[in-house]
Amino acid sequence: MARHTAKSHKIRKVEILVIQIQICLLGYQRYLDKIEKLQNYSSKLFEVTNCIVIKQLPPCDHEWGYSDNCINQLLTSSNIDNSNVELCLCFIDNPIEYNYFTRDLSEFDSKTVLCSFYQVETIFDEQNIDIFNYIHGIILNEIVQIATLHKVNEDYFLHDDTRNCLFDMCGLKKDIAIKYGVPSLCPSCIAKIESTAVDKEFVPLLNKEFKSFKKALFYRIIDFVKERPILSIIITFLSTIIINILSSFLYELLKFIL
Ligand SMILES: [Zn+2]
Repeated sequence: MARHTAKSHKIRKVEILVIQIQICLLGYQRYLDKIEKLQNYSSKLFEVTNCIVIKQLPPCDHEWGYSDNCINQLLTSSNIDNSNVELCLCFIDNPIEYNYFTRDLSEFDSKTVLCSFYQVETIFDEQNIDIFNYIHGIILNEIVQIATLHKVNEDYFLHDDTRNCLFDMCGLKKDIAIKYGVPSLCPSCIAKIESTAVDKEFVPLLNKEFKSFKKALFYRIIDFVKERPILSIIITFLSTIIINILSSFLYELLKFIL
C-alpha cells in the first residue's frame, strides 16, 4: 500500500510540472530545423503540443519590423486559440518593438509571448553557440513565469545586471550569449521562485535541464585553445613526443615479434 502511494505521488508531480506549449510561426522561418528539434524534445518540464503557421505577414509598421499591436491584431484575425495550452510562443525573424528579443503580448492574453530571431544568429555564431539554446532558453524562462505566477510577466524576475541568469535583462544585446550559453539561476531569482507555491522539484529539474545547454566537444576544444593558447601549444608539443615514443616502441616490438 505504501509503495502504491509513493508511485501515485510521483505521477502527480510529473502532471503538475509538464507545461503544454503551442508554437506559432510568423512569416518566413530560417530556423525550422531548430523548431522541429524543439517539437521532438523530451523534457520533464514542458511539451510542445501544437504548432500553427501564419505564412503571410502584414506590412511592417515598426521600421522593418512589427509592433506589439500589429502582432496582436494578426493573432486575433487568425483566430489563434490558446485555451488548451498554458503558454503560446510566437517566433518571428523580423525585429520587434524596442529591438527586444521577446515581448509579452499581454494585450492579446496572459500566456502569449513574441520571440524574435533578429541579430541572434550573429551573436551566437561569434561564440559558437547553437541557436537551439536560444529557443530552449526562452522556453525555460517562460515556464518559470507560468509555473510561479500562472501568467507571463517577465518584469517580475528581470534584473538589469548580467549574472549569467535566465532573467538577465540583456540591455547589451550580445549578453544574450551569456544568458543562454549555459544558463543558470541567480540566488535572487531562486528565492523569488521558491517564495511561490511551486513544486519543490521544479528548481532541481531546471538545473538538470541547464546541463543540456553544454557546447559540442569540438567547440569546447576550440574555446580551450582560444582561452589558453600557450598551454595548448605545450600540450600539443608533449603529445607529439609521446606519440613518437609510442610509435618507436611499437615498431621495435613488431620487429621483435615478426
Ligand atoms: Zn536572476
